[in-house]
Amino acid sequence: MFSQSIAAFLFASASLVSCGQQQAPAGDNSLINWNDSLTPEEYRVLRQCGTEAPFTGEYWDHHEHGVYTCAGCGSPLFNSSTKFESGSGWPSFFDVIDQSSIDTKEDVQFGMRRIELVCHQCQGHLGHVFSDGPPPHGLRYCINSISLDFSQGDSISPSQKTSNKK
Ligand SMILES: [Zn+2]
Repeated sequence: MFSQSIAAFLFASASLVSCGQQQAPAGDNSLINWNDSLTPEEYRVLRQCGTEAPFTGEYWDHHEHGVYTCAGCGSPLFNSSTKFESGSGWPSFFDVIDQSSIDTKEDVQFGMRRIELVCHQCQGHLGHVFSDGPPPHGLRYCINSISLDFSQGDSISPSQKTSNKK
C-alpha cells in the first residue's frame, strides 16, 4: 500500500537525534536572521524544540482556505485542505504539501520515542508526526501554531513549488 509505505518511510528514516540538537540549516543561512526575526516564544519553539500549550495557539481552531508556511523561513508546508480536527489542541494535518520540505528525526526527549518534524530549509522545529491519523495515510502531523504562518489562497511562489507536479 502506498500510504503504508509513506508511514514506514517516515518512521524508518528518522535519524536518532534528540529534540533540540539541531543540525545546521540546509538553506541559505544568509537569508535567515533567526535571532533578529523571531519573538522569544518563536525562538523557544522553533530553535529550542519547545511546545506551545494546547488550545492556545493561533491556528488550532483556524478554518480559512490557504497555505501554512514555516514561521522561520516561509517555506510552504501544509495546505488547509489537509487540516483536520484532532481534538489535541494543536493544528493537525494528515498530509504535507511536499515530503521533501519536512525532515524527520527520532526524538527521545522525556523518555518518549517520538518522530520530530523539522523544516527542511531552516531546520526549525515544527512538531511531531504520529501514526494515529485519519485515512488515507494514517498520519497525524501535530504542529505548533507558532511554528506556522498562514497565507490565504493557493499563492505559493513558483520558485518554492518544486517537484510537486500533479
Ligand atoms: Zn523553515
